[in-house]
Amino acid sequence: MRVWIDQDLCTGDGLCEDHCPEVFTLLEDGIAYVKESGFVLNDPGQWDSLARVPVVHQGRVINAAEDCPGECIFIETDDGPVGVH
Ligand code: SF4
Repeated sequence: MRVWIDQDLCTGDGLCEDHCPEVFTLLEDGIAYVKESGFVLNDPGQWDSLARVPVVHQGRVINAAEDCPGECIFIETDDGPVGVH
């Protein structure tokens, strides 16, 4: 499972980081980015930054996507995008 954020839609409220700080982080610009193995994928961000999500975090990442007020957390699996909204 992989996850990315559309930063154009992010409100910067930080709910995703509350759900799963291992995968989501807010940077100095006040916008959320995904992380993989501790590295922030913010170059260039958006759909070009797909973070692999370890199984142990997948439930909380799905919850974050469901609760995201910007509806801008997108989850993909080997079978394609997963609609959570
Ligand atoms: S929950 Fe959604 S809108 Fe809020 S900071 Fe995270 S990605 Fe941005």
